[in-house]
Amino acid sequence: MLARMTTDLIIIGGGPAGYVAAIRAAQLGKKVICIEKERVGGTCLNWGCIPTKALLESAEMFRKMAQGAKAYGVNVQEVTADWEAMVARSRAVSDRLCSGIEFLFKKHGIERLQGTASVPAPGEVTLTAPDGTISNLQASKILIATGARTREIPAFPMDGTRIIGSKQALTLPKVPASMLVIGSGAIGSEFSYLYSSLGCKVTLVEALPNLLPNEDDEVSKTMERAFKKRGITCLVGAKVESVSTSESGVKAHITRPGKPDADVEAEICLVAVGVVPVVPDVQGLQLTERGFVQVNERYETNLPGVFAAGDCIGGIMLAHAASFEAVQAVEGMFLPGSTPKKPTLVPGCTYCHPQVASVGKRERELKQAGISYKVGKFPFQAIGRAVAAGETEGFVKLLFGTEHGELLGAHIVGEGATELIATPQLGISAELTDEDLHAVIFAHPTLSEAIHEATLAADGIPVHA
Ligand code: NAD
Repeated sequence: MLARMTTDLIIIGGGPAGYVAAIRAAQLGKKVICIEKERVGGTCLNWGCIPTKALLESAEMFRKMAQGAKAYGVNVQEVTADWEAMVARSRAVSDRLCSGIEFLFKKHGIERLQGTASVPAPGEVTLTAPDGTISNLQASKILIATGARTREIPAFPMDGTRIIGSKQALTLPKVPASMLVIGSGAIGSEFSYLYSSLGCKVTLVEALPNLLPNEDDEVSKTMERAFKKRGITCLVGAKVESVSTSESGVKAHITRPGKPDADVEAEICLVAVGVVPVVPDVQGLQLTERGFVQVNERYETNLPGVFAAGDCIGGIMLAHAASFEAVQAVEGMFLPGSTPKKPTLVPGCTYCHPQVASVGKRERELKQAGISYKVGKFPFQAIGRAVAAGETEGFVKLLFGTEHGELLGAHIVGEGATELIATPQLGISAELTDEDLHAVIFAHPTLSEAIHEATLAADGIPVHA
């Protein structure tokens, strides 16, 4: 047993909630310990957002070189995809960013302890180090930021080789000849695009009627068309009833109401049907019905001085929402007079090709709430910069309140969508109206002109349509 140590804040988990909380608390002059089982950075930097984006960048370069270079006047001899090198690059990108967080911890004097933490009582943390050594620590505040992990389908649990989750999909030994992907959220869609662009025959199965069902319906339809054009078989409104594995691969039985059943064989099955919270051993901790850590408006759990933020509390389960929550929780703990906020206007981005990004209200939400709105939609095919780039797929769709003209929602599918979304997001948060946006001069030639044109289109006066 090691000696007791006391500190202002102990954070359990070093992902986008935990490490950002640690930095913010250190900025506020607090003594901070961050306990992490693995490497700081969490799923996002180690096994999620960052390494997938690195692989998608490789896939995108390969697609452009292999399929499109000639159309741009570039003659290339033979273009081949070196999967091992792509994976190595992706791991190196992850490694670099995790090292960056380690550097920031040192810079801010944050102590990083490796191991598994449990909380026997408020103010007390027990740390079990990888070698089994147990230490007892004390802190005036504790923040649980343990994230989430892949949800399994009980009828056919993951075995890590034939039935896998996103973590294994990042480091497969080779590009499989075929893959069955279950679930078309961000993970399922991104991996479907990644592997199909490297020559894998992908079948994507989604239980709901649309791909990316959380997105605007027209965006989903555009995605489905684009995926089909790329050779991905998309089965929507479909349920995978069973998956059996063999030496050579998997066989799945799929049912679709009103359509014939389908049997799909593939080398590998990727399960991407959402995530479940990871909750550490905390004595007396209250959970929600769905197993998330229950917190109040200040991110405090039922245990005094024990807080939680990020994916483990549910809500909007995205890295940037987790970091926001973490900062709010820490400021609520240590900044006198601070009133923590919950994330409301959170953009969502999916990095396949075409990219998808959205923020604010969807049409179906406005209809349901009985809010009268007008739509401004503009295609990239009429935007000079998009034509020059050879990236004309998709559109910008903006939703404005009819009565006051305020921007309520933005839905973008196409090249650069994930960067473009920041403009309408600022517009919504600043409560800008269609007329405010009409008056903004957008640089020419840029993809962002589609945002301006969509604003004009909402009032029936687009220039290039
Ligand atoms: P998700 O919840 O976003 O999507 C899961 C999809 O699976 C849903 O569309 C659902 O209808 C479908 N589904 C559920 N059960 C099914 C079944 N039995 N058969 C067929 N379809 C089924 O989850 P995800 O894509 O696994 O992502 C997990 C989390 O990680 C999410 O919170 C996601 O937002 C986040 N994430 C975000 C990004 C990004 O922002 N680019 C990337 C990866 C992951």
